[in-house]
Amino acid sequence: MKPKRLNVIKELAGLVKPYKYVLLAVLFCLVVLSCCNLAMPFVLKYVINNVFLPGEAGVADPSSLLSILLYVLVIIFVIYGLRNLLFYLSKTRVMVVGEKTAFELRQRLIRHLHTLSVDFYQQNKPGKISARVMQDAQSIKQFIQDELASMMINVLMLVVAAGIMFHMHWMLTLATLAVLPFHVLVYYLFRKPITAYAREAKERIADVSGDLIEQFDGAATVKASTTQLIEQEKFRESLRKGMRAQIRQSRYYTLQKVAADLFVGLGIIVLFGLGGYLVLYRGMKPGDFVAFFFYVRILYPRLIELVSQAGKFSRAGTSVERVFEMLNLEPGVPENPKAVPFEISRGRIEFHRVSFGYQDGRVLEDVSFAIEPGEHVLVTGPSGAGKTTCINLIPRFYDPQEGTVLVDGVDVRDFTLTSLRRQIGCVFQDCFLFNDTIMTNIRYAWPEATDEAVVEAARGAYADEFIQKLPNGYMTMIGEGGIQLSQGEKRRLMIARAILKNPKILILDEPLVSLDQHARQRALEGLSSLMRNRTVLTITHYPAELPYANKHMHVSDGKVTVRDLSGKVLNP
Ligand code: ATP
Repeated sequence: MKPKRLNVIKELAGLVKPYKYVLLAVLFCLVVLSCCNLAMPFVLKYVINNVFLPGEAGVADPSSLLSILLYVLVIIFVIYGLRNLLFYLSKTRVMVVGEKTAFELRQRLIRHLHTLSVDFYQQNKPGKISARVMQDAQSIKQFIQDELASMMINVLMLVVAAGIMFHMHWMLTLATLAVLPFHVLVYYLFRKPITAYAREAKERIADVSGDLIEQFDGAATVKASTTQLIEQEKFRESLRKGMRAQIRQSRYYTLQKVAADLFVGLGIIVLFGLGGYLVLYRGMKPGDFVAFFFYVRILYPRLIELVSQAGKFSRAGTSVERVFEMLNLEPGVPENPKAVPFEISRGRIEFHRVSFGYQDGRVLEDVSFAIEPGEHVLVTGPSGAGKTTCINLIPRFYDPQEGTVLVDGVDVRDFTLTSLRRQIGCVFQDCFLFNDTIMTNIRYAWPEATDEAVVEAARGAYADEFIQKLPNGYMTMIGEGGIQLSQGEKRRLMIARAILKNPKILILDEPLVSLDQHARQRALEGLSSLMRNRTVLTITHYPAELPYANKHMHVSDGKVTVRDLSGKVLNP
């Protein structure tokens, strides 16, 4: 995943765009809320000049002073009531926007992840990928919920407070705002290291998650190799790197806040110096200075908060970048816009002048052959020759760089990916089962299948007999919190899945490996019922054990040779 410069503000704005009316309503609430806050200094000024120091204002009657005070208390009550109502409304709305944004983003990520190539999953550890889906979306959500609205309001309060202050006393306002450029400087000076360390911290944490999952996945290998100490040291090193980046990032973030506060202190020194001079020598009323200072007390903390929020924005920005880097990855095999859901009626396969290679070199070179409908082909060749690679081109796990793969005379790129893959059954070497019931695991091949169809498929794969003996039969949970199955039992479930799918083309990768003699016999029986009326390609290093072939395909040195049982070469 190569980092690419992104416009974080644009991407973030795109994420919250569906909620623009809600956000506008929130902004409106916040504007009214700010007005409530900004009204307080005026109330204060009025009370000091007209109630506490009435001589100067000319109102001295104690009963009228009391009624003014009561009037002011009611206004304060209304201000606080309104303020909290608006705060509640705006905060709850923003919470919902944050949650919905993360919800949509995670779904978008999952949809996109399913379009990425098999290579992507081989190159990126599962923990690393899941960190982007869960943790980065979480950081973005938190920024929206905790900072976005308050950032908008801080900017607004700054502008309004500065406007009122200018109106009150332009000279004092200029002195107060003289520190503003220093705050901007502080933001720019700290932005780069905060962003860099935030990114590094997130990458390292994702690495740690990846390492963790790998260690638990390979727990048996780790134990058998007695490499626990090496694994613990590797984990400690990843963790240490993450911790260091996290500490550095927090240090810069805190330093940024400290620098901002120091400049605020400087501003207050200037303000009190000039304000004291104006009150003592230029006849400024103390109430006016206190009211002005109240605005400064609104303005400066907002300024510090804004600088700190800018730091948080930089950190959330790294999550936005990481998420969009993933979303911008090209799908491994792009869907052809003109693709149609073809039906495979015969199961003829043809390779026409196909060449394919991974990043580090060619595996297949100008390969042409045809497999007729209903033929059973054994695919053999030395390890690493390209057998799996060649077969993987049929369900489009990869696309060839040159040439065409055709099924029933149609280029596989003209099938919709779903229609193509739904009609090709695969029994991989690696028997992957989900943490779910046996019923759901078999039904995975065809989610609409009835219970009866699942049981029928399991019978066909000779899996029914062992399933019936399990405590809850087909409803027995497998894996985490459930029972563990032997390799042979897993393989039979995989075959049941393939039978249920009822594909015209079937790909088997070492179907008998890890089965004992009895289970092999059973699996072969299952396979023979499965293979009727289909084109079957079986990858194997043990062709003698599979008596059902009527063609042999040998992959070696980038070439594919197809022979009939008499040994005659059939390639064009
Ligand atoms: P085996 O019998 O051991 O399963 P195979 O004949 O099926 O081997 P392939 O798995 O197709 O061989 O691999 C062919 C070559 O391509 C090997 O050199 C392998 O290292 C390489 N290869 C396989 N998958 C990838 C990949 N995703 N990225 C890069 N190279 C790969």
